[in-house]
Amino acid sequence: MKYPKLFSPLRVNSIMLKNRVIAAPMGIPRAVQLSTTNYGGLSLPDKSLGGAAVVAVSEYALSGLAGEREPFSKYARDVSREVLSVMGQAGGMAMLEIGFHGDIHEDGSADGPSDGVHFTGGRMRAMTRKGMDQKIGEMCRKAVEGKAFGFDMVMLHFGHDSLCSLFLSPVWNRREDEYGGSLENRTRFAREALRAVRKAVGPDYPLLVRVSRELKVPESYTEDDMLYFIRSVEDDMDIVNISCGMDCYGGTIDKYVANTYAHTTIFTPRMYNLDFAARVKRESKVLVSVVGGVADPDACEKAIAEGKVDAVMLGRQLVADPYWPQKAMEDREEDIVPCLRCLNCYHIATEHANTQCSVNPRFRREDRVPLCLSKADRAKRVVIVGGGPAGMKGALTAAERGHQIILLEKSGRLGGNLCYADYGDHKADLKKYRDYLINQLARTTVEVRLNTEATPELVRNLAPDALMVAVGADFIQPPIPGAEYARQAVSVYPELDRVRGRIVIVGGGAIGSELALELSDRGNDVTVVEPQGALAKKSNWLYRHGLNNAIRESGNPPKAMLGSAVKEIRPDGVVVTDQTGEERFLPADHVLLSVGMRPRKDLAFSFYGITPETAMVGDCKRVAQVLEATNDSYFIAANL
Ligand code: SF4
Repeated sequence: MKYPKLFSPLRVNSIMLKNRVIAAPMGIPRAVQLSTTNYGGLSLPDKSLGGAAVVAVSEYALSGLAGEREPFSKYARDVSREVLSVMGQAGGMAMLEIGFHGDIHEDGSADGPSDGVHFTGGRMRAMTRKGMDQKIGEMCRKAVEGKAFGFDMVMLHFGHDSLCSLFLSPVWNRREDEYGGSLENRTRFAREALRAVRKAVGPDYPLLVRVSRELKVPESYTEDDMLYFIRSVEDDMDIVNISCGMDCYGGTIDKYVANTYAHTTIFTPRMYNLDFAARVKRESKVLVSVVGGVADPDACEKAIAEGKVDAVMLGRQLVADPYWPQKAMEDREEDIVPCLRCLNCYHIATEHANTQCSVNPRFRREDRVPLCLSKADRAKRVVIVGGGPAGMKGALTAAERGHQIILLEKSGRLGGNLCYADYGDHKADLKKYRDYLINQLARTTVEVRLNTEATPELVRNLAPDALMVAVGADFIQPPIPGAEYARQAVSVYPELDRVRGRIVIVGGGAIGSELALELSDRGNDVTVVEPQGALAKKSNWLYRHGLNNAIRESGNPPKAMLGSAVKEIRPDGVVVTDQTGEERFLPADHVLLSVGMRPRKDLAFSFYGITPETAMVGDCKRVAQVLEATNDSYFIAANL
């Protein structure tokens, strides 16, 4: 076995975990119709069958599934019992996550340490001693109910936007009683809460406590503060879980309007809480688990083997592929579907407009996307034109149905625009996904014909029963005078380290903005000219905030001229009309174009009429992301 440490047992108080993999609880998209057959995006059946040692569910998700306020009230018990059974159906432990969060009152105010502005931007109401006792009592009751109902362990959420975080942070905690001021005082409420829960559930019941190593909010608390807290409660918990950041949607701290520190994006290093987790492991006696950008089994094995942590907790990666543990255990890591960290699966990313997974069509659709497709009644001859992500996903899916597939690709390699993922610091996840698709294709009977430009005649001669057209899109050459002095932005990727000097990027969408960051991080003087009022305006909310954080934290950030338009491109720079209407000249050694893509519709249309079973997928239908390419292509191919 390649990962002996990762798949070694771990004793946590009175229970034995079969391995070191914990499936994180997930936020739940409230608008979805929840049921015990689709689990509303919690992937509970797959996560349990996928081999995690512990599967977590939050009390909110459980009560949501039950359609009740409480997960163990009389009319919720049938559903909760079924969920519990599902969570443990493959021998894993079921963990109930209990929140330690301030109540929201009818007038919109929220409980917190002091009167003032809450991190949500609303009014924060100082908790009274009585209110604090009630909150502790409520947590104890829920923990006892969870234990009595049959949950193997409880996870107390003391991280992110919890009362533990708020009381520990001087920015919100202005109290002058024994719960404010000194570090000892600011940790007192959380210590009392944890002590009370321990007392309520008894010494033998396993307790996991999640904390944020820091909040990434100014004037909150430091890692030293958090270590102090952990050490002060190490006798009352069994295993700590190290996370980072908090959910912060507005308020006075306007830089923190989304939580991309807890749910990391491509701009954050993988496993970026590991250093602090290792410090906790060294300096306390509690078992330690880490969450946040955990995805690579090699890195997990190394962290455990080196004694940095005892266990790993995975969130989004188990959405992308809930069978990650089983595949890693069987040394089949090439079969793991990599998570892109695009956060489309997190409902706040698109305000519920498109809460799907970019790489796993089954996510939230367990009812109609089977784990394995059945073979088609009749094997068809399927031709797929284009070897980008849509074409490859279509080929893989159609192959699963048992069809005979010919994939035609004009260039000498598969991948389409994902081939740019070979370059740059922020495209490692995308590169992994492209390589995953290529590797999977190589193990099918799909006949891949590279360097083959499909024409209607060629395709007709192949006599397909079904045809999928995935011919992609062209980068737009804008009608700006002097555009011939510029080059397409993506063409720079293969020579990222060689492009030097003053660089102007025309267009600040995701491609232009990411490239700007790559080039400025390499020491160049980069300016992005963007007509809209924000960078990456069409990308999801969380991506945008991850991007903005990365720009803000860069040692040499690119400059953004928003609300501005390029009027002319000259050999030595660009003429720009800025947001005040003033004309300016920006000298430049390189001018790069990133103004979007246009679907190759005419080309795609030319393939119609060969067979009635013809469908366009991917960018040629509508320029979009991997999410649309994967999902649209899956459904077309699955229904052939
Ligand atoms: S939607 Fe994106 S972030 Fe979420 S699991 Fe899928 S690939 Fe990962």
